[in-house]
Amino acid sequence: MKPLDISTRLLHADRQSPIEHGAVHKPLHIATAYGYSQAEELVAVFQGRQSGHVYGRQGNPTTTALEAKVSLLEDAVGTISFASGMGALCSTMLALLKKGDHVIASRYLFGNTASWMQTLEQIGCEVTLVDATEAAHVAAAVTPATRMVLVETIANPRTQVADLQGIGKVCAQHGLVYFVDSTMTTPALFQPKDVGASLIIHSLSKSICGHGNALGGSVSDTGLFDWDKYPNLQATYRKGPATGWGLLQIRKKGLRDVGATLSSEHGHRIAVGAETLALRMERACSNALALARWLEAQPLVSRVHYPGLPSHAQHERAGGLFSGFGALLGFETQPQADPIALLNALQLVIKSSHLGDNRTLAIPVAHTIFWEMGPQQRKSMDIADSLVRVSVGIEAQDDLLADFSQAFASLKAA
Ligand SMILES: *Cc1c(COP(=O)(O)O)cnc(C)c1O
Repeated sequence: MKPLDISTRLLHADRQSPIEHGAVHKPLHIATAYGYSQAEELVAVFQGRQSGHVYGRQGNPTTTALEAKVSLLEDAVGTISFASGMGALCSTMLALLKKGDHVIASRYLFGNTASWMQTLEQIGCEVTLVDATEAAHVAAAVTPATRMVLVETIANPRTQVADLQGIGKVCAQHGLVYFVDSTMTTPALFQPKDVGASLIIHSLSKSICGHGNALGGSVSDTGLFDWDKYPNLQATYRKGPATGWGLLQIRKKGLRDVGATLSSEHGHRIAVGAETLALRMERACSNALALARWLEAQPLVSRVHYPGLPSHAQHERAGGLFSGFGALLGFETQPQADPIALLNALQLVIKSSHLGDNRTLAIPVAHTIFWEMGPQQRKSMDIADSLVRVSVGIEAQDDLLADFSQAFASLKAA
């Protein structure tokens, strides 16, 4: 029999181990603490000689089941879940970096990640922001203190596509942790392991959950990084095969000490949402492509940013790497068209931040999610004042296009 498709495996993943009463879902485990009949067992679990749960801050059987699913999707050796994508990102970097370390990050980052880069500098790491659409910029920034390179596959919100393959080679050559935020692509479109990623981060709050009803994040280890060569791992976590060392330190120094733990309720909702990830992404990507093409033909639109359009600077790269161009697009309006008035005229599309939802959401970027950083940093990230970000949902395509059509028509009439 040929290996099962990833969606098929995901749907049947929980039943690979015995589940109470033959339930088809892993149930919600809400206990904070886990008891053992023998003290020796408790000791063995604490010392990592026996698997098991001790205290809910380090996870529970429900989140463990979700972690196994994310590992399956990413072909990872292991995954740790967190309370949010930011929880995953900050906890992981705190666990792996030390004062004096150097991090290279893409200049094109999700706003809160960019804000976290500033905090990281304040606590003693050096951060160099580079144009990650060319690996040469990353290579040029490497110093003896460099430990990690952080990029987004498709950048939120301007959709630049990093030179993922080239950067993977730079990281391999210099022994750097290659930390890839694949929130925009999801495992339905792309597996960062294929370009040499060491760690993969997802905001599970977005498309993987899809229904806008849970927050979560994850970090997966692809098994490609040689942790034996990483200088910041503590001796206590260098036990057993080296493939597990990085995640062990992230679970202890990151999840346990920081405490950004995913709740079992949210973990369960994310796991259920993930079952339809491939179906939803297919629909959302085809809607996004149709909307991007339609917008590009509008006289009141000056630019459309969507990797699926031949006009996108990394269109060919995206086509070669991803099995779809994503559900996120951006467009800029002509000076005579006020993006705020346009958003007000939309009747179906929701004016909201968040993305990767089943519903289509739109937001004026410079006025909201990128407001705090100021005009200078916005300019360096190529965020125009009129940029509108659209997270395309799974509504019927005709209904979506009709809503944009009537909104643009109302602007012209005004
Ligand atoms: C939303 C997002 C995050 C943060 O995730 P939360 O779950 O909202 O904390 C990180 N990276 C990208 C690319 C995102 O879009």
